[in-house]
Amino acid sequence: MNLAFDRIENLLRSTTRKYLLQSVFGGQTCSQFVCLECGKVKNRIEDFYNLSLTVKDTKSLYDSLQKQIEGETINDYECDQCKKKVDISRRNLISLAPNVLIVHLQRITFNFETFRNDKINTFFEFPHQLDLKPYSFYEVMKREGRIKDKSEDDEEETKAEVKDSIQRKTEEEKKDAEEEVWPE
Ligand SMILES: [Zn+2]
Repeated sequence: MNLAFDRIENLLRSTTRKYLLQSVFGGQTCSQFVCLECGKVKNRIEDFYNLSLTVKDTKSLYDSLQKQIEGETINDYECDQCKKKVDISRRNLISLAPNVLIVHLQRITFNFETFRNDKINTFFEFPHQLDLKPYSFYEVMKREGRIKDKSEDDEEETKAEVKDSIQRKTEEEKKDAEEEVWPE
């Protein structure tokens, strides 16, 4: 399929529809290296036309996406902040969702014991409606408190406004009460 996309892209290059494939199927993942000691994050943005997901030991699309954001631990990685070899987590977050998502399932895996390719034929479930938000760069970083949430700011403002109005109301009530206590 990648080959077909390359060919189509080559054919479109000289036309006015140069970015046609990109605008329909183009998305971006953010491949992250997270230092497990100091928490420093290194990001690498990658373009994709299809999201390649693991099928091995997963039973659904959500399961597989969850694995992507949990990532894998890599030992002996040189962290520039810790200035020593540390364990890091390598994971994939979706930084830009495409308008039309093509999912590629990694059903063929290489078997290191037999040195042959194995096909995984296990059941794999798809939801009728897919929510990519929990697996997005913004959501994961927000959950970990690495970036500030704008809606939380709004919430704070709303809370402040509510508090302010309650206070004003109490003052007004107090005034009323005072008036009641000290009628003219
Ligand atoms: Zn570090």
